[in-house]
Amino acid sequence: MSEIHALFRATLRQFFQNEVLPYAKQWEEAEQIPRNCWQKMGAAGYLGLDIPEDFGGTAGDFEMSKIFLEELGRLGFGGLAAAFSVHTFMSVPHIVRAGHPALKQRYLPGAASGNLIGALAISEPFAGSDVSGLRTTARREGNRYLINGSKVFITNGYYADFITVAAKTLPEAGASGISLFVVEGSWPGVRRSKLKKMGWHCSDTAEIHFDDVEVPAENLIGEENKGFYYIMDSFQMERLSAAIISIAGCEVALEKTLQYMTEREAFGRPLSRFQALRHRMADLAAEVEITRAYVEHVCRLHASGAFAVKECSIAKLKATELAKRVSDECLQIYGGYGFMEEYPIARMYRDVRAGTIAGGSSEVMREIVAKILFDGVAYNPVYDSQAASESVTHPSPSAAELVRGLPQRFKKGKMPQYAACVHLKLHGPGGGEFTVRILNDTCTVEEGLQGTPSCSVETEAALYADMETGKIRPEQALFSGKLSISDLGEMMTFSSLFTKLKEKNN
Ligand SMILES: Cc1cc2nc3c(=O)[nH]c(=O)nc-3n(C[C@H](O)[C@H](O)[C@H](O)COP(=O)(O)OP(=O)(O)OC[C@H]3O[C@@H](n4cnc5c(N)ncnc54)[C@H](O)[C@@H]3O)c2cc1C
Repeated sequence: MSEIHALFRATLRQFFQNEVLPYAKQWEEAEQIPRNCWQKMGAAGYLGLDIPEDFGGTAGDFEMSKIFLEELGRLGFGGLAAAFSVHTFMSVPHIVRAGHPALKQRYLPGAASGNLIGALAISEPFAGSDVSGLRTTARREGNRYLINGSKVFITNGYYADFITVAAKTLPEAGASGISLFVVEGSWPGVRRSKLKKMGWHCSDTAEIHFDDVEVPAENLIGEENKGFYYIMDSFQMERLSAAIISIAGCEVALEKTLQYMTEREAFGRPLSRFQALRHRMADLAAEVEITRAYVEHVCRLHASGAFAVKECSIAKLKATELAKRVSDECLQIYGGYGFMEEYPIARMYRDVRAGTIAGGSSEVMREIVAKILFDGVAYNPVYDSQAASESVTHPSPSAAELVRGLPQRFKKGKMPQYAACVHLKLHGPGGGEFTVRILNDTCTVEEGLQGTPSCSVETEAALYADMETGKIRPEQALFSGKLSISDLGEMMTFSSLFTKLKEKNN
């Protein structure tokens, strides 16, 4: 760590000591972080770490973001960590990476100065873990979109000035029909209510309804129907943030508990002299150190530009689950005092509970790792690694992305009576199993093999991608024996209903 980073940590810690910690309990009771705290954070440069200098940010490096998240975690107030990390690393980055210059100019300087608070609204009452199932829609009408739908559990959602909202612009295309927009909290048709929660009290969590909210077309972030991929891309930093905050929280809980054990006596000796408790603390310290080492490893990977989906998911899974156990066991050592609001461990115990749910639950983290281990699924970045670049670059799409994009290439009206159910088994990295249906002149794609197929296709994912992108002709693939099609006639009819990628690009 360079001297600059050490200085950054020292001044940030001092800032929190002076400007945040003395008031944090008050804010917990008021269930709000006052605006002037956001503005002081902004004036000190802490809210612009992910924002280019041209737009008022401080454009810090990854190490600075990591320090910021660690120090937030060390505060022991989950609500503070949630509010500032969602604003800085979840809401703002979409605008930074894919927003066009006017959008950046409109929202980023305020986000950096703390005059504008940002939120990210993806989760819905009927779609949390399954992002592709969201129901909020954005219908284009001339030079605006009309947004309708509901979001739930949105951090900063009640006081946010701008909300990065995921909505379906092509509902029949599933994941390939989602777009991101910047919606202002004060616009007509936006209704918000604050939710009561078991922890994170100073952070506002909202349910948000959008009723015919008019959003100017220029508030679309990046390209239409790319939203799902932008979200998946950004999940890595979000998950790593949760891991960094959680492991720092574990360390603080251990430090406080070790200290308490030297001060509190039972049966005439300090708790630190009881072997049963010492060994329990030794076990916890060992797990915290091992997890800390792994989080450091993933931070290095991420900082080097790697798209570390598996590692970020493991880091979030392990660190947030460990935080639950550490706070529970530490609270036990405090005895009755641990249950009292006056002791920070009581709040930590409550606050860490959200860690294994928000930003992708532990079950979803395990599922991501399992898909990589068992199904050879590979994930590719969408955003250019040059975060501040004006344009979004798109690497060659994987076979899975090409399949998910089929509804957009479907030639509506060509054979309105035709119906088909095609199973695609695409092996290896970038593949998966899919069911593509054509019914009522509409094409849909589902994950997995569903229903009775009218045709089944099995091949390597890479070969499928090569056929779709015109690098190899299907006949060649068929003759090579690497492509298996159960009904060739059916497949030819089915294929004729999709625009070829080259035709579309022209
Ligand atoms: C305090 C808090 C703050 C939040 N902040 C935000 C925010 O700012 N923005 C935002 O968009 N969202 C936010 N969320 C929402 C959060 O991301 C979702 O709660 C989370 O993704 C889970 O979705 P769900 O609650 O709908 O649970 P569901 O998806 O209904 O899941 C219910 C249970 O089933 C499990 N499950 C689901 N799918 C699978 C599967 N395939 N295999 C095995 N188990 C599965 C889940 O792990 C969970 O245990 C927040 C949530 C909380 C609690």
